[in-house]
Amino acid sequence: MLPRTSRHSINTTRHLPLIAVRRRSYLAPPFLLDSFTPRYQLLTATQASKKRSEAYAHLRACNLCPRLCNVNRYEKRGHCLIGSDVVVNTIAPHFGEEPCLQGHNGSGSVFFSGCNLRCVFCQNHDIAHQKNGFSLTPEELGEWYVKLQEVGKVHNVNLVTPEHVVPQVVLSILHAKELGLKIPIVYNTSLFDSLDSLHLLDGLIDIFLPDFKCWNDSTSKRLLKADNYADVAKESIKAMQAQVGDLCFTPDGLAKSGVLLRHLVMPGYEEEGRHIVRWLAENVSKDLYVHVMEQYHPRAHVGKERRRTTGSGRAEEVAGTSREGGKRRYEEINRPVKMEEVDGVKKAAQEAGLWRLLDAAEHGGFNI
Ligand code: SF4
Repeated sequence: MLPRTSRHSINTTRHLPLIAVRRRSYLAPPFLLDSFTPRYQLLTATQASKKRSEAYAHLRACNLCPRLCNVNRYEKRGHCLIGSDVVVNTIAPHFGEEPCLQGHNGSGSVFFSGCNLRCVFCQNHDIAHQKNGFSLTPEELGEWYVKLQEVGKVHNVNLVTPEHVVPQVVLSILHAKELGLKIPIVYNTSLFDSLDSLHLLDGLIDIFLPDFKCWNDSTSKRLLKADNYADVAKESIKAMQAQVGDLCFTPDGLAKSGVLLRHLVMPGYEEEGRHIVRWLAENVSKDLYVHVMEQYHPRAHVGKERRRTTGSGRAEEVAGTSREGGKRRYEEINRPVKMEEVDGVKKAAQEAGLWRLLDAAEHGGFNI
């Protein structure tokens, strides 16, 4: 295990009985950092060189995510559609993240094109399900991190959906380190990672920002187009927690290291959300910082007219009913989530002992 950032060692919460009244996640030990140095700055030259070699080896035979394509990414594309360079759609300060990440200056977000999942409700499907953006070498990508720091004055580099470009991310961070990068790296993932890719990232990521999407295998097959999603997510989140621990802040209220877990509540899938938060409390940490999200809206394939492929290979709309009896695709999630569904997941989280639940600032501004 590579080094973790130092923090206060007194844990005032671990031995308390289950809470009846909600506690607040105020800035206090043990979640207040005395000082912060990014993990990548603590790597030795030997460790960095070993990581570079491993990253290049993975690019030549990529089995780095659960899709196990085994392709040479200098010559071929796998399920994620991306070769040895990354394709980036947007790099900019972003103000749509949690307050402790965006702060006053924004989170330095890098939106990668391509993905190893195919969520039918994807909020960014125009960039995730097809290549849509500009190509960058890992070194050029690292130079952008430094521009975000120097010009954008952002609080962190936020790698959005990076599971399929982990070798390039490793090379980019090591390059940026040499150029003077000193802000935290956020790994903003859909949790379809692998232990191999997380091992490669160990020592380079300060904040893991995983979205645990669903619990049942039948749901992940239908809505994410992935087998075994929850099993993969469970082992990934444990590995992330082992690397960086619970979310910690500096006195300015900005998150600097640890895990911030998201769960987007889906309409009609509240029960799966309950399973997820209970499992997290029992198996990861009761001090896990959790954001139960309510902003689901039908997107991508959800609510579209059903289509079929004709003899000539063209897709056309068809009359008739879907397998659930409706005329539109994925009817069961073709509505916004209800507040009582979101509240049901939050209540289950608190009953399970999770207490660091993120509340959005009522004024829409920056608070913790
Ligand atoms: S990262 Fe891409 S090429 Fe590699 S195994 Fe996953 S989907 Fe396949």
